[in-house]
Amino acid sequence: MKPKNETFFGGARTSRRAILKAGAATGASVAVGVASTRPAFAAGTTEAGRSYDAIVIGGGFAGVSAARELKARGKRTLIIEARSRIGGRAWSSTFSGLPIEFGATWIHPSQTLIWNEVQRLGIARVDDPNPDFAVFATETGGYARQELTFLDQQDALLRRFVEGAETYLPNAYDPFSREDLLVDLDKLTLGDRARQLRLSQLEMDWVSATTGAYGGGFERGSLTQLAHWWALCGYNTETFHGINVTRPVGGMSAVISRMFAESGASLLYNAPVTRVTDTGSRVQVTAAGVVFDAAAVVVATPVNTWNSINFASGLPAEFSRLSTQTVGVPTAKKVFIQVQGDIGRPLMNGRSGAMLDLVLAHADKSSQGTMLIGFSVNPNLDVTSVSQVQSAISELLPGTQVLSVKGHDWGKDPYAKGGWTFRTPGQLLGSLRAVRQPHGRLVFAGSDIATGWGGYVDGAIETGIRAGGLAAGLTAAVTS
Ligand SMILES: Cc1cc2nc3c(=O)[nH]c(=O)nc-3n(C[C@H](O)[C@H](O)[C@H](O)COP(=O)(O)OP(=O)(O)OC[C@H]3O[C@@H](n4cnc5c(N)ncnc54)[C@H](O)[C@@H]3O)c2cc1C
Repeated sequence: MKPKNETFFGGARTSRRAILKAGAATGASVAVGVASTRPAFAAGTTEAGRSYDAIVIGGGFAGVSAARELKARGKRTLIIEARSRIGGRAWSSTFSGLPIEFGATWIHPSQTLIWNEVQRLGIARVDDPNPDFAVFATETGGYARQELTFLDQQDALLRRFVEGAETYLPNAYDPFSREDLLVDLDKLTLGDRARQLRLSQLEMDWVSATTGAYGGGFERGSLTQLAHWWALCGYNTETFHGINVTRPVGGMSAVISRMFAESGASLLYNAPVTRVTDTGSRVQVTAAGVVFDAAAVVVATPVNTWNSINFASGLPAEFSRLSTQTVGVPTAKKVFIQVQGDIGRPLMNGRSGAMLDLVLAHADKSSQGTMLIGFSVNPNLDVTSVSQVQSAISELLPGTQVLSVKGHDWGKDPYAKGGWTFRTPGQLLGSLRAVRQPHGRLVFAGSDIATGWGGYVDGAIETGIRAGGLAAGLTAAVTS
């Protein structure tokens, strides 16, 4: 099977720090994937029988990191991937002649695992250019163009949301270190916090794109998840926005394909795993009607998809509960919007519940004009509908003509069932630790259950390294 060749590039989002900086971008790479929809081994890897030391289910950053860790410990590993490509919620593509990212895009030095990875692989980085102007909701129900200094008001509101995080989350990588202080806080939604702060509707609208939208809505996301990100950002707005500025040249798919090449693992595509049975001495994994077996299995699929797999030997209740509750934002969507002419570089903030929560300019101009990048958690947005996107854009920036759109609805994607991680109330203290424990010969991984950068590629790598090490230990127990 021939690998599918694609060129990649990152999307654009900005930060206060980026306002002071400018950048340009070029790059290309080759993705690992197959064109057919039938189960197939990746080019360069072969089926080495049905038995392995370890099987990794899911070829996202967590799964590939786990496979690499297993290789470092001398284990023969098979990755089983449901799609025709690796990368999962990191997926580089093209639209209207420009490289785009349907999912993960930006990295930051504070995310040391992915940052060092990109550096070690010799992949260049590029900063997205600054916005020219902002758009915010007005008191009268519409939207208005604003100078960029208006963003300071949004930041002041954000800081009020997470005030006190230095005390209740003093160690960003150990969110449980002051569990005593989190008992009540972890019960709060972002909406609860806004009510505590007595924010007006207009204030909610101004801060919605950086709080409510991240959480999949004010009444879905938990305060402690936002505060956890704030802690990881060193409790400052510069880093909080700065994490959405720098891209690896060639895109995220290029990064993971380089990491996969180092894993030495066999890789089976187009093979959704449907059943996992831990017999006590081996684990049987059924994919595309074929049963593979191994001494240990890393389950590196999104939490929201766990209930789609039959764990026939049973799992503690927390696993199924967490999957039903959802961790990845179930309404998360990203849409690329080709508009007529050069409209500058807006940073548009939708009000709470808007069709588009955040709209930014792509780093590059397309031949037809400006490419915008929209993020949405509105369940009603159809990312394939030019007319729907046109009316959303017309509201934000009247007179802008939408020519075409290309987007991805991550909630409707059967192998994600949600977008970026954002925990709901009670999940930090209630389930996170339980699902990170090995269960029999199974170890779970994924950005959704990171204790560091959950919701980012860095968190996926963190859990993959950990799970690979734990799984290698389980295989050693079998052979000794
Ligand atoms: C719109 C959007 C924007 C984002 N922006 C950023 C960003 O700028 N920076 C950043 O760092 N992060 C960003 N993220 C988050 C980042 O994409 C994720 O945290 C990370 O990619 C998750 O990696 P993972 O390996 O944990 O899961 P995934 O990438 O979801 O990988 C899981 C894999 O399991 C496979 N799978 C699922 N079910 C099965 C099955 N039954 N059998 C076999 N395989 C299966 C999937 O196909 C997938 O390949 C963004 C996410 C989204 C959605």
